[in-house]
Amino acid sequence: MRHVGHTYRLGTHGRAVTSHPGVGGTTFIALLSCSRCPKSGERNLRQMMPPDQIDRKFTQAGWKLDPHICPDCQRRANQEKTMTKPSPAAMKAQAAMFRLLSDHFDVEKGAFALGWSDEKIAAETGLAKDVVTEFRRAGFGEIKEPTELQAIRADINALEQLAREHLQGVTAEIAGLRSRLAQISSRVGA
Ligand SMILES: [Zn+2]
Repeated sequence: MRHVGHTYRLGTHGRAVTSHPGVGGTTFIALLSCSRCPKSGERNLRQMMPPDQIDRKFTQAGWKLDPHICPDCQRRANQEKTMTKPSPAAMKAQAAMFRLLSDHFDVEKGAFALGWSDEKIAAETGLAKDVVTEFRRAGFGEIKEPTELQAIRADINALEQLAREHLQGVTAEIAGLRSRLAQISSRVGA
């Protein structure tokens, strides 16, 4: 943004300059105030420069100008954005996870309904299993079942999965046989 006059000399638009007389001549320190925190940035100038050149020194040091935002505040804003703004898809998955846990996890017993587990909810929602486990622990509680029962439940889950896979295999085989039957009977009929 272009401003009228030498903003640093004039001390306008959050800019300022101080001079220090020294042995080798006067040195200048350009100052820029952050609009988000009390911090001021400083750049040493060996000689007075046009304001746009001083501006460039600050942008090279990571500042955003007009409004001025220091590098620290930019980092903080970026972190907050990534932390507090999950994507709509992630929010949907989390809502689904919450619903499934509410429906299939008994908080009092500390047990999943038959056929349900952190793994199964992870598979249904597309979330990582660790995410589901962490969320379930924080929001619904630990699994309190005796390990013996957990083991039996895990076996049932595994066998159910196996049964589903077998059924798929058999169904595919039946479909294959049906199409062979159709092919052969059309040839015999011809
Ligand atoms: Zn700042």
